[in-house]
Amino acid sequence: MTSSDNVHAHEIHKFGSQAARWWDPDGEFKTLHAVNPLRLQYIQRHASLSGQKVVDVGCGGGILSEALARQGADTLGIDLAEELLDIADLHGLESGVQVGYRKISVEALAAEQPGCFDLVTCMEMLEHVPNPESVVRACATLVKPGGVVFFSTLNKTLKAYLLAIVAAEYVLRMIPKGTHEYDTFIPPAQLGTYARHAGLELQGMAGIGYNPLTRGFFLCDDVSINYLAVFRKPQ
Ligand code: SAH
Repeated sequence: MTSSDNVHAHEIHKFGSQAARWWDPDGEFKTLHAVNPLRLQYIQRHASLSGQKVVDVGCGGGILSEALARQGADTLGIDLAEELLDIADLHGLESGVQVGYRKISVEALAAEQPGCFDLVTCMEMLEHVPNPESVVRACATLVKPGGVVFFSTLNKTLKAYLLAIVAAEYVLRMIPKGTHEYDTFIPPAQLGTYARHAGLELQGMAGIGYNPLTRGFFLCDDVSINYLAVFRKPQ
């Protein structure tokens, strides 16, 4: 890692140091496990996965990567946290779900394999890098013409601050303290601008809602907190 790379070393360390508990459905990353079926549902609304070549950018321990591969996608997961990639590999051995994992930045993979993927996913990662626009551009380079790119991140609203940081980290303990910084949150219009500049066309957005009574997550139209967005690269 050099200082010119689009990475915060402290973010990689923060996530990497929690690798051992990544797959505990009741542990620190239980929220990623809880929202994963919704992410998969949203992806399948917009694209088929079987036989498709997919790259999961900032894959962590592989929660989404494995779900994509289970649907028949030929999946590559990339991240810069080595401990997480080790855990992802180990989990794949246990589950029998085949995913290839590589420690490489999205910008480097884009230079190596431009236009090689039918589908690109990049979930909960943009808010952890110094230059999210560079990640969006690299994802756009990786996808084939006609292919789709999915992002999820946090909106920059007071509601997102109160719910995604104050409530989720400190009151309800849904995610580890210090996971998010408000300044790094990205409004949907900003993400849309990055994507447009990268030659991608917006196909849709959806919010992820939370019901405190059932403690369940659901897809909704309200993008004011955590949201998913899908873009297509024109043919
Ligand atoms: N996408 C996964 C993990 C989200 S946590 C999921 O939603 O299930 C954020 C992930 O982004 C961590 O795995 C962290 O290591 C990774 N990350 C942070 N900065 C990165 C960078 N510059 N390049 C690649 N991965 C990065």
